[in-house]
Amino acid sequence: MAPEETPMTSDDRMIFRSAEIISVGTELLVGQIVDTNAHFLSEQLSQIGLSTYRHVVVGDNTERLEQAIRHALTDNDLVITTGGLGPTEDDITALVAARVAGVSLVSNRDITDRLESRGRYVSPGYPLIPEGSRYFHNDNGTAPGSLTFFTLNRSQKAILMLPGPPDEMEPMFLRYVRPVLEMHSAAKFVHRYVRLTGIGESRSEDMIRDLIDSQDEVTIAPYANPGEVVFRVSQRLESGDDDKTDEAVEAIVERVGEFVFEIGQRTLNEVVLDMLVSRGETCAFAESCTGGMLASSLASIPGASKALLGGFITYNDEMKQSLLGVPRDILEGEGAVSEECVRAMADHCRLRTGADYALAVSGFAGPSGGTEDTPVGTVYIALSKCSGLTVKRFFFRGDRERVMRQSVVAALNLLRRGMIDG
Ligand code: ATP
Repeated sequence: MAPEETPMTSDDRMIFRSAEIISVGTELLVGQIVDTNAHFLSEQLSQIGLSTYRHVVVGDNTERLEQAIRHALTDNDLVITTGGLGPTEDDITALVAARVAGVSLVSNRDITDRLESRGRYVSPGYPLIPEGSRYFHNDNGTAPGSLTFFTLNRSQKAILMLPGPPDEMEPMFLRYVRPVLEMHSAAKFVHRYVRLTGIGESRSEDMIRDLIDSQDEVTIAPYANPGEVVFRVSQRLESGDDDKTDEAVEAIVERVGEFVFEIGQRTLNEVVLDMLVSRGETCAFAESCTGGMLASSLASIPGASKALLGGFITYNDEMKQSLLGVPRDILEGEGAVSEECVRAMADHCRLRTGADYALAVSGFAGPSGGTEDTPVGTVYIALSKCSGLTVKRFFFRGDRERVMRQSVVAALNLLRRGMIDG
């Protein structure tokens, strides 16, 4: 029987008010692995309107895990565990959860049949799930998930157990568990994203200060990535509530529209690639200080070959001269980090590749290098297209990695604007 078909019980009408996530595994406590499961689950729960009150990490220790689950259940009606569901001695989660729920562990014919039909070795007496629980198949491993409802001190509680490996847990959650949790949520959260580039976090925040200060049902949360500012617009919706996030997004765009490259989830490289593909145009890159990062930012997206032709990594002067024909007098006069140099790089790159657009980047990423007039953090970026050439000088703060990342973002944005301007 598929999990969607497991019989409804009165517990299926329980509304979860809050959840605590317990990540089980000594390797988490000793710093061997990072707890990405809690991060993933919190994001998912917030999308379906379930509040997460606490994250806890516990080693593979029966008493401490039982203590943690009992403590979590005093403040929350749902406890979600990940990890410790395997067949070995130190996999204690199911045992402890069943003890807390006051039920025994049982095997389930449907789960074992399905594992065997997939050619999985099933060790005797494994897997066991708490009696009466709703179970979730593991399409990528052997440990099933389970959701157990029970009464503790006259309150209705539930424990959701999920496997530890993210490549098992995440697909299981998305495919089987989330639809079930949605039925137990009284609300859902709507999140919209307005993404900006070419402007800093504080300036953009100042431009929408009154919207942030007057937020009520709709909240606006700004955050920054290198070269990008994101405004997350969220609203908690209960049945009958109007979704007001569109209005809030419109109000933001009215103020900062010239910097907005996306209303949604796409990153700048995805936006640029989609624009190129929809216009049937191509690009190529001549990179110095970004050392290939620019090309790789597009190449990392499936389908990049529809628009990305290739490019040149011309890190030293000889390569700029021999591969891109940058004249020696520019390299010796104005220098490699100069408007003249990126102009020549971009033009030659476009001519040699036949691309519709060629971007060239040259700068001082640091920590050493630079001159009094051209300090570390100075980056020149040129865009060559058949209707002309644009050059911009930027000054980026931060370490080498940050300067390189900001250069990539600025270059992609120059290309984006170049396409819009025609
Ligand atoms: P298995 O069926 O593989 O035994 P399990 O549920 O018993 O699954 P664990 O043995 O606890 O899971 O963990 C297996 C692996 O999953 C860990 O070694 C680690 O790589 C990954 N993992 C476990 N918990 C987390 C977590 N919270 N965040 C990220 N990765 C995790």
